[in-house]
Amino acid sequence: LFKNVKKLPSDALFAIKARLAVDTRSAKVDLGIGAYRDNNGKPWILPSVKRAEEIIKADPEYNHEYLNISGLEVLRKNAARIIFGDSFDLANRVVNIQSLSGTGALHVGAKLMQVLNLNERDIYFSDPTWGNHYQIFQKSGFSNTKTYPYWDAASKKLNLTGFLNTIKSAVTGSIFVLHPCAHNPTGLDPTQEQWKVILEAIKEKQHLVLFDSAYQGFATGSLSKDAYSIRLAITDILKDVPVLVCQSFAKNVGMYGERVGCFHVVLPETGYNAEDKDAIQSQLNAITRSELSTPPAYGAKIVATILSSDELYKAWSDDMITMSSRIYEMRHKLVAKLVELKTPGTWDHITTQVGMFSYTGLTEEQVARMEKEHAVYLASSGRASIAGLNDGNVEHVAYAIDEVVRH
Ligand code: PMP
Repeated sequence: LFKNVKKLPSDALFAIKARLAVDTRSAKVDLGIGAYRDNNGKPWILPSVKRAEEIIKADPEYNHEYLNISGLEVLRKNAARIIFGDSFDLANRVVNIQSLSGTGALHVGAKLMQVLNLNERDIYFSDPTWGNHYQIFQKSGFSNTKTYPYWDAASKKLNLTGFLNTIKSAVTGSIFVLHPCAHNPTGLDPTQEQWKVILEAIKEKQHLVLFDSAYQGFATGSLSKDAYSIRLAITDILKDVPVLVCQSFAKNVGMYGERVGCFHVVLPETGYNAEDKDAIQSQLNAITRSELSTPPAYGAKIVATILSSDELYKAWSDDMITMSSRIYEMRHKLVAKLVELKTPGTWDHITTQVGMFSYTGLTEEQVARMEKEHAVYLASSGRASIAGLNDGNVEHVAYAIDEVVRH
């Protein structure tokens, strides 16, 4: 027993983190993991989060009791409100459960589909996508994982034609995992017009959509703009079919390690009653009960406090703007320096891409040299977490790119 166990490769991004930790070069730069850093390269506790923590702890009723199986009610309600919009019929159309951040939400979604035997269907991810998508769904019995074209390497633009062709040629009723905003890893989002065409094509083939929302607020700084595709689906193009939504609060609240998220089943406008809702809720609860018993409380209380106070909500909105504008500024500073250095190639895609990442176009070999010769760490795909740039290191990174591109 437990002998000859197959050793699996370590997670590529966490392996970067481990190499970086033992690198003694003072100029080292972390553009690997997708976590926001301030202009000093340090993790940032959002002022709205600090304030919410003070409020929670000052409450005489503060304790560490278990939450309900489905999580903190005020979090679930307000989480749904910010992603689906104030005017959406939450009471009749949303069934949800608190999850272990976005990963946990994806897992609950995968498990629910497995319970309903939907895991036998083909499931499509963007090419490329967040690598963990494959593992999460494969471990829940999805053996037919496929890809839809997304990033066109030559033009550094969306391969809309390829995407639409795959939607059209997929078996009717396949599952499509979509990134609603700030696509990971490319930082490239469809335009509003493109979303319409994509969702119409999906409707035509009766595919089931799962939106994986891990960066709401990071693409534009606005929660509603970043939820455009989801809202277009549930209020218009896909309003007659169920839509699944995974929601993470890791990035937009800057509470990566606290694991706050929600999984939502959005029901069609008509045809589903309270009994249907109860039945779906019972399945979500059963999945959570056997795996977590109850979801974690502390981070959920912080997010719920922010979302249910007008004052804190406003402060949080400002915090998201602080983060998204600093990233925006760093994109521009990096490109300005590359232009100044006359680095061969075009670099304007770095400023048109949005969210935390840039798909730089650097090759695997160039990425390896960035790390070895310049102490600049990024994913082997060429994905750089722009949040790792700051005024103190952006020039060093530009020189490193320039050098590896030229030689
Ligand atoms: N989906 C995507 C596309 C992501 O990039 C991430 C985070 N890297 C997640 C889901 C899950 O993040 P978390 O579990 O930390 O909320």
